Amino acid sequence: MLEVQNLTAGFLTAQGPLVAVDDVSFHVDVGETVCLVGESGSGKSVTSLAIMRLLEYDNGAIFGGRILLDGTDLVGLSQAAMRRIRGRHVAMVFQEPMTALNPVFPVGDQIAEAVMLHEGKGRAEAWARAVEMLRLVGIPEPEVRARQYPHQFSGGMRQRAMIAMALACRPRLLIADEPTTALDVTIQAQILELLRRLKAEMGMAILLITHDMGVAAEMADRIVVLYAGRVVEEGPVERIFERPAHPYTAGLLASVP
Ligand code: ADP
Ligand code: MG
Repeated sequence: MLEVQNLTAGFLTAQGPLVAVDDVSFHVDVGETVCLVGESGSGKSVTSLAIMRLLEYDNGAIFGGRILLDGTDLVGLSQAAMRRIRGRHVAMVFQEPMTALNPVFPVGDQIAEAVMLHEGKGRAEAWARAVEMLRLVGIPEPEVRARQYPHQFSGGMRQRAMIAMALACRPRLLIADEPTTALDVTIQAQILELLRRLKAEMGMAILLITHDMGVAAEMADRIVVLYAGRVVEEGPVERIFERPAHPYTAGLLASVP
């Protein structure tokens, strides 16, 4: 479903182009959970932003390669065309929910807005979807909560709301960039459980980005290991944990309790 081929991407700096992701290739099949792992600075976020074509908003650029989503190359699509792809085909959850939730609008309005934008639904139907999604992600009293503002939610509830917004248009692929890193351990486990449940119910594929091999062990069908902007190995989760082929992967595994 997603096929990243020889992606090279980075930033336009005063000193010239800075390559953060160097010739990266991997794929995500329908319904699969792939974990993109690697320590801080290895290029995970740049990869995810490139797939969403959001890198351009951060002085970044795709220097080369292809990003095929159901056979369509996203590289080179106009931002107008990308807006039709985001939401319905691929949606993203960020590490810090406040980067995606707007503090000045009620949470339900923001989810409804996404549904109206991506699916062209009317306000009433979009609002009903927003409430249904908040219920689905386990937010109590969703009719009441939908009228509240992000600051009235706890950190864990905000992350649930973010997931509700990302999944509101039932994308076939969800990209989650360190969705639990900002949360304490108990809430982290709840959010991972939620993602597993939603995946079972909705059947979307997940590209889960994490620096935590414990999270990867729990969630992944396959693991792609990034080091300094390059893929150093890739394989089924069992194989990676039993017989890591690259010393860098072995080092990452040594940090798992
Ligand atoms: P990760 O998500 O794996 O922690 P990133 O993808 O955020 O890593 O970063 C990869 C590399 O790109 C790092 O060297 C980082 O310093 C650099 N980088 C990230 N964002 C920017 C930016 N806005 N401008 C310049 N360099 C950046
Ligand atoms: Mg990151």
